[in-house]
Amino acid sequence: MTPDDCILIAGAGPVGMTTALALAKAGIPVKLFDSLDHIPADHRASTLHPSSLMMVEDLGMTEKLLPRGIESPMFQFRDRVSDRIVVEFDYRDIADELTYPYALQVEQHKTIEVAWEIAREIDCFELIREREVIGVIQDDDGVKITVQAPDGSTETHTGRYLVGADGGRSIVRKALDIDFPGFTWEERFIIVSTYYDFEEAAGYRYRNYVAHPERWCAMIKVPGDESEGVWRALFPAFGNDPDEEVLSDEWIQARFAECYPYDPPYDLLHRNLYSVHQRVAATFAKGRVALAGDAAHVNNPLGGMGMNSGIHDGLNVAKKLEAAWHGGDHEALLARYDRQRRPMAEKYVQAQSINNKRMLQETDPKIREERLNELQQTRNDPDSNRAYLRRSSLVQMVEEADSIQ
Ligand SMILES: Cc1cc2nc3c(=O)[nH]c(=O)nc-3n(C[C@H](O)[C@H](O)[C@H](O)COP(=O)(O)OP(=O)(O)OC[C@H]3O[C@@H](n4cnc5c(N)ncnc54)[C@H](O)[C@@H]3O)c2cc1C
Repeated sequence: MTPDDCILIAGAGPVGMTTALALAKAGIPVKLFDSLDHIPADHRASTLHPSSLMMVEDLGMTEKLLPRGIESPMFQFRDRVSDRIVVEFDYRDIADELTYPYALQVEQHKTIEVAWEIAREIDCFELIREREVIGVIQDDDGVKITVQAPDGSTETHTGRYLVGADGGRSIVRKALDIDFPGFTWEERFIIVSTYYDFEEAAGYRYRNYVAHPERWCAMIKVPGDESEGVWRALFPAFGNDPDEEVLSDEWIQARFAECYPYDPPYDLLHRNLYSVHQRVAATFAKGRVALAGDAAHVNNPLGGMGMNSGIHDGLNVAKKLEAAWHGGDHEALLARYDRQRRPMAEKYVQAQSINNKRMLQETDPKIREERLNELQQTRNDPDSNRAYLRRSSLVQMVEEADSIQ
């Protein structure tokens, strides 16, 4: 094949859009394909960690994101059984290591919009919407993708390399026959939003995790469409209750009243029910193709690590492809990408998100008390507190990945 002189990217979510922006900023022509005709505004990731804010700064994104988000230096763990705030962590405790000593609460679609606003001004950036990638082949010289338009017609595009950032059900991953081992949690997760102010009512921070043996939950504040402030509650939905029942006002108000008994019933703005998986692809690179973001790894949302670590993948692989574009050995570079990012997905993203969930849902009263006490001790010991904050901000993961040759 004689490929066009560009890099192809499948998927214009937060990971694909940021990766494309990084490559275009480096002067490399990119063609980015998405099956949708718009940026979806559904309720997904809501937190940009300090590490991500530092990493997208060079792309010009952070200065545009800050006015659209809410600074959230603290996050809180609560225990609903003993009805207490167990511990609060504060990113300002490691302000000497962070340019931005807070997480930024900002809806995922706004992060995509900011990257797009910058990218569309760059000549070598091309976004092609309503084109679903349905086939991938590669040879020694390049990659060819087949894309399908809504009317069923197909076309092919070629490039030197391809990044599959096409989400958890990645066609690119499947076309390359890359295994995606892991498991799916038994319960589904439901996210519901309301205007009710839980900070004013009960001292919640903008990110809160609430432990309970049956009904653990999480509460997050995001800016909302008009920066009016919206609170998103996350609950587990156990059993085989039909979707309509779980999504009904009655079911949701009952969960709200149990978990947040301040002033129910609450006004309900949006709701979203979904299955949650913990999976990591068997490899993040094959030949001239790399996987990034949810295409490479998926996890539960407790800790807000999926989108953040996906953006970190994208920025890492963009550097490798930039070096390959200028004559570097792409196989060696992409093998290093895999060595740097895949173990991090296992060691940090999977381990921490699974740990967070297990702690919140612990049913044995003795073990749960021990775990919550450990968390308090972590906070009280300066070294452990620093180590914990470095892990949760994903700063440690980025440093460790970069140190791998
Ligand atoms: C329902 C849901 C709720 C979530 N909630 C949270 C949360 O509360 N907190 C949190 O931290 N994380 C959450 N996540 C995870 C977070 O949203 C993801 O980690 C993040 O979106 C990953 O970004 P991505 O760009 O890799 O993939 P995606 O955001 O999935 O983007 C993939 C893009 O590729 C496009 N695409 C897909 N297939 C093709 C194709 N074949 N051809 C062309 N384009 C294609 C899609 O249209 C989409 O634009 C949630 C995920 C889901 C699914």
